[in-house]
Amino acid sequence: MSLAPLGPRDPLVLEGFVPYPEDLAAHYRSAGYWTDQTMAEPLFESAARLPDKTAIVAGETRRTYGELTGRILRIAAGLSDLGVRRGDRVVVHLPNIPEFVEFVYACWEIGAVPVFAPAAHRRTEIEHFVRVAEASAYVTVSRHDGADLAALAAELKEAWPVLRHTIVLDPQGGGEALERLLASEPLPHERRAVASDVALLQLSGGTTGQPKMIPHTHETYLHSVRQSIPLCGISESTVQLIAVPVCHSMSARSPGFLGVLAVGGTVVLAPNGSPDSVFPLIEEHRITQSSVVPPIVLAWLNSSLKERYDLSSLESLHVGGARLSAEAARRVRPELDVVLQQGFGMAEGLVNYNPLDVDEERSLTCQGRPISPGDELLVLDDEGNEVPRGTPGHLLTRGPTTIRGYFRAPEQNARSFTEDGFYRTGDIVQQDELGYLSVVGRSKDQINRGGEKVAPEEVENFILGHPAVYDASVVGVEDRLLGERVKAYVILRQDAGKVNLGVIRGYLRERGLAAYKLPDALEIVTEFPQTAIGKVSKRLQRAQA
Ligand code: AMP
Repeated sequence: MSLAPLGPRDPLVLEGFVPYPEDLAAHYRSAGYWTDQTMAEPLFESAARLPDKTAIVAGETRRTYGELTGRILRIAAGLSDLGVRRGDRVVVHLPNIPEFVEFVYACWEIGAVPVFAPAAHRRTEIEHFVRVAEASAYVTVSRHDGADLAALAAELKEAWPVLRHTIVLDPQGGGEALERLLASEPLPHERRAVASDVALLQLSGGTTGQPKMIPHTHETYLHSVRQSIPLCGISESTVQLIAVPVCHSMSARSPGFLGVLAVGGTVVLAPNGSPDSVFPLIEEHRITQSSVVPPIVLAWLNSSLKERYDLSSLESLHVGGARLSAEAARRVRPELDVVLQQGFGMAEGLVNYNPLDVDEERSLTCQGRPISPGDELLVLDDEGNEVPRGTPGHLLTRGPTTIRGYFRAPEQNARSFTEDGFYRTGDIVQQDELGYLSVVGRSKDQINRGGEKVAPEEVENFILGHPAVYDASVVGVEDRLLGERVKAYVILRQDAGKVNLGVIRGYLRERGLAAYKLPDALEIVTEFPQTAIGKVSKRLQRAQA
């Protein structure tokens, strides 16, 4: 085995990571927000205590803590034998299957840095991560939702010499490539990284260009996980259903599989959140907790199937990622007989939850308070002055779970962070007298499609590539189920052939853009409405829709 021996080691230096100022880092450590633990350790503590307890279930697969950690140590050994080292980036592009959990922990075991790539992402996004993060390995399934990801893996390996290894699993997980890794002698479980090392790269929908990478360290991410556990009522008896993509913050750390596995609970993975796929799982596994986005809540509320299954084990439903209407919120407790826990957070760091026992009114209308005592919040007017409590303003934040900059994105960082390190969230919030936040709007040019974030500019750039298109403007328009959906206004060139929604969607799909970013609606126009200073008025376009 060619790993560096254990012992004191220097923090990892990863070019393109924006560090925390020394004094603030020292404060976060002395206050106990940051500890010296690395991401893999809480799971291994649970496994030492409860080796025979079920850790994870997906379809017919059920793994105990002992089996799960055993597989992680074999995969870690296999990756290490391939030459994956501490600090190396590994794009983990998997759907909701246990292998996602296994590969990310295997990376942490050897100090490598998994990139949490949503399964919906396609060539455009994945290639961007490989290029910018200089990933040395790519893990995926051969097919997903009709896409040939084995072909993508081969294409990327050919195009990017930095990408030395592609590991392609069967569509539902498993397969020869995994068996080869599992054939390795397991590594002994040891701490092979320093807690201040970058632990993972998560993705931001962003507002411009391509998705930005969010570098979390072991310290920042574990602090968020640890704070979430009591606030979400997670314990050894928790049986958690993961029904949104497993790489999303909500599935990973809020409280996520990381929270549940840290305390010895059980995680059940569902392929999606539709009632016909999750209600039988709630009944069969006696699910107690789940974290979902508002469209899933609406689908559950509106499904007649809820009478056919026994959902009585479900104690709390955590909802975030996008605005839950007060009307839907009001229906949750009476119709599903669960405690509604609203949350508002961002992959960049800050997370807010309502406590489970918050008063009725706040449970319906507020999205929580910061989970860390170290979180600093500013709510500012357009001129940058703090607004009084109760007045809406722009939310800025910094703290022990919030990054100081996107990975390798200096221009974006100059826009998104203040000089003293506050992240401009782009959200308009108001804070009540007890500090509870309500999200009342957004100043960033971003579409929130049922929790999936879409940067209009990215979609516009792709549409502009179509030879028949002269100009394009993409906006979010109201949608009853998703909150917002993607609408494209397009001006065609003279003599353009037939262009309609199907043509543009087909074109963008072929260019390798994730399906959730494709326009849901298209309108051909001859001009765009303008603002007083002659810019395209997206406000008017949204209003027209
Ligand atoms: P993500 O990084 O994908 O989790 O997206 C974070 C963004 O989602 C936030 O900055 C908000 O714009 C939005 N968001 C998250 N939770 C909520 C919520 N409860 N209500 C309204 N918007 C939300």
